[in-house]
Amino acid sequence: MSDDTKACPVCAETIKAAAIKCRFCNTDLLAFTAAREADTERVLFAGHPAAIHSAWQWLVVVCTLGLGYIYYWVRGLSTHYEITSQRVRVEQGILSKSKESVELFRIDHFDVLKPLGMRLVGHCLLQLRSSDTNFSTVVIFGVADLEVLADTLRECSLRERTRRRVTTLVQA
Ligand SMILES: [Zn+2]
Repeated sequence: MSDDTKACPVCAETIKAAAIKCRFCNTDLLAFTAAREADTERVLFAGHPAAIHSAWQWLVVVCTLGLGYIYYWVRGLSTHYEITSQRVRVEQGILSKSKESVELFRIDHFDVLKPLGMRLVGHCLLQLRSSDTNFSTVVIFGVADLEVLADTLRECSLRERTRRRVTTLVQA
């Protein structure tokens, strides 16, 4: 195969490298690549929340002469978020861990809340809610640029819904 040809990812026939549509199977190659990219799970954030994410916590730290900071630090470490383009996983606890995993397409509301204490230190809170009554609300906080992340999650959720609907239609 020379440099100006490639194999079609769908029918494997040799086609021009610059082709955006396969002349053998008629696949729209751009749409095919986009769909496959939406299929792969991307990690948007993985890690612990910031130990201090509210002005009131600073107040506690000052009043306890710093002891409060150790408490918040341990508490921050005991929570682990893994936020991807498809789901949100929250792990809590240091010794016994409880895990919660929700798929983005189930979430209807991505509410960004800014309580005063958090606003003062530039943090906010993201609440994930679903119209499904069995679904418990997941709260994410102490993550940098959470507002931007919330927008990305909203887009990912819509894309996941479209993709699932398409897949169900194809299977039906
Ligand atoms: Zn083809």
